[in-house]
Amino acid sequence: MNNHAAFKFRSISDNEAFARMVVASFVASYDPTIGELTDLKTVVSEAVTNAIIHGYEGRDDQWVYMTLTMEDNVLSIEVKDEGLGMSNIEEARQPLFTTKPEMERSGMGFTIMEHFMDSVDVSSVHSQGTTIRMSK
Ligand code: ATP
Ligand code: MG
Repeated sequence: MNNHAAFKFRSISDNEAFARMVVASFVASYDPTIGELTDLKTVVSEAVTNAIIHGYEGRDDQWVYMTLTMEDNVLSIEVKDEGLGMSNIEEARQPLFTTKPEMERSGMGFTIMEHFMDSVDVSSVHSQGTTIRMSK
């Protein structure tokens, strides 16, 4: 069974929990293991947190867009913001790289997404925003 869903939600940190729940509900009928569910919720959290704290720098009146697609047993997750964007994607993806060490960020978000998903694609345009596409 193929499926597709699209949402947008405000850039407030409470919506990280909402996004985690949405992905868990979306895959529920495909009989995921507890471990798979945990991994998916983790990668969605990382991407949504990044959109809110880096893309929008904590502004709480912006939109985060999430789309979920299940096609031929491949799950694709897209998380998009229309925020600051990043100038150097390769650098941003390096383990331990962070531009917010003062916020006790560890620079591991992308590394976690890459670890749990089969592919992670990042596109970003300075001052226009960032889109993360992941599949598993
Ligand atoms: P952690 O995720 O471990 O709390 P982090 O968010 O800094 O720390 P990553 O998630 O790996 O680490 O992101 C690395 C860097 O990429 C960030 O510090 C930030 O500079 C940049 N970045 C990530 N996502 C975005 C985004 N949506 N918009 C703008 N910059 C981003
Ligand atoms: Mg992060």
